[in-house]
Amino acid sequence: MAVRAAVLPAIGAPLEITEIDLPEPGPGQVRVRLAAAGVCHSDLSLANGTMRVPVPAVLGHEGAGTVLAVGEGVTRVAPGDRVVLNWAPSCGECHACSLGEVWLCANALNGAAGVHATRTADGAELHPGLNVAAFAEETVVAAPCVLPLPDGVPLTDAALLGCAVLTGHGAVHHSARVREGESVAVFGVGGVGLATLQAARIAGASKIVAVDVTPEKEELARRAGATEYVVASANTPREIRALTGGQGVDVSVECAGRAVSIRAAWESTRRGGRTTVVGIGGKDEQVTFNALEIFHWGRTLSGCVYGNCDPAEDLPVLAGHVRAGRLDLGALVTEHIALDGIPAAFENMTAGKGGRALVVF
Ligand SMILES: [Zn+2]
Ligand SMILES: [Zn+2]
Repeated sequence: MAVRAAVLPAIGAPLEITEIDLPEPGPGQVRVRLAAAGVCHSDLSLANGTMRVPVPAVLGHEGAGTVLAVGEGVTRVAPGDRVVLNWAPSCGECHACSLGEVWLCANALNGAAGVHATRTADGAELHPGLNVAAFAEETVVAAPCVLPLPDGVPLTDAALLGCAVLTGHGAVHHSARVREGESVAVFGVGGVGLATLQAARIAGASKIVAVDVTPEKEELARRAGATEYVVASANTPREIRALTGGQGVDVSVECAGRAVSIRAAWESTRRGGRTTVVGIGGKDEQVTFNALEIFHWGRTLSGCVYGNCDPAEDLPVLAGHVRAGRLDLGALVTEHIALDGIPAAFENMTAGKGGRALVVF
């Protein structure tokens, strides 16, 4: 059955909006009609080759929709169920899974956690980028890639839960473990940065500093919970220390994946504080530290994958925040687009403009 999709024909090539041939779900698979899909920076990183993906591919990994059909043996969802796509399904059997660190599952992206759907366009096999291929009207995924959506969350908004919001929430709650009354700085006000700001607000952070290269995102950042806004410069750490009684923030979360902002986040963190890197940078982004400063400052620097979340456990928590009015998913979205708007959304992202662009089907 043919559905429309945004296909990446080759690394670095423009996306093509075309019809793909989607098979019915096989054993262990689920067919989902997408309601919406967010355009994440990781999609851009896959499209331009910063992260590797086999091509041709259908990207898109932040989506929500309705189950249309299930294959043999699928019991976790049924047709008609509303679901959020989970691009990092865990196998439950590898070393990371056995330790409960499911976000680091060794099999999340190699297909062993489930069966990949095969798609054909002009006879060519299509790869589902990050497992779920959400830049399409419909997708067929392995059953572990769908999570039932709790009640009280609009399906279109729910797409954002699948990557940006889980990541921002997890960066604050699982990785940096922000406590009530602590100060937090967030570097990079894109979709994940906005979700991180909201998570810091929900955690009860006392002072929340948003940092971005442009002054244009101040209103967006303040709506998400920022109490201070700093336009990034060589002076940023000094400005942040000045905002925090000369000490620096308790927690810095870096959402841009750039060496310069990782270094600024580190220098903006107080002695003994935590710096969490959520952004995905390239191999050419080298960050240096001298041995003395590592000792002297006593800071903790951590990487953070998918917010160090167990999506099955965190999704109901986030839905609770939405129902209580604490988490405003709509505030992350700066643009509603169709599939053919994704290339322009990539351009805006490269230029550092806007929050989340959301493809609405
Ligand atoms: Zn993402
Ligand atoms: Zn695993």
